[in-house]
Parts: sequence; structure tokens; C-alpha cells
Amino acid sequence: MREYPCPQCRNNLPWRSDNPFRPFCSERCQKIDLGAWAQEEYAIVGDDQENDVSTGVLNPREDL
Ligand SMILES: [Zn+2]
Repeated sequence: MREYPCPQCRNNLPWRSDNPFRPFCSERCQKIDLGAWAQEEYAIVGDDQENDVSTGVLNPREDL
């Protein structure tokens, strides 16, 4: 069976087409990855709010 490393915890795991958390090994690793992305996004929005409440809040991702 083919194996690959989980992008989050680097554990080798067999590739399973019935794994709903691919490419992660588990729901936990999937949520860690999504959580890290979300925290980064929120941090950027928070900085904008501190600097100027009237801009950067409504469309924080417009310039991406
Ligand atoms: Zn993992």
C-alpha cells in the first residue's frame, strides 16, 4: 500500500481513498492546519482594526 507523510504531524500513513481527512492523517491534524490558517487571518484583521477601524475590516482579503 502506498504511504505518504501527513503534512501536519509528518507521520507516515497509508493512502486510503476512504479517509475523509486526506491529506491529513486524522481530524485532529486537519483542524490544526485550518486553525493555524484562521488564526493568521484573524491576526491580520485585528491589526487593521487597531490601526483604522473604518478600513480593512469590511474586505480584509480584497487585495489577496
Ligand atoms: Zn497527522
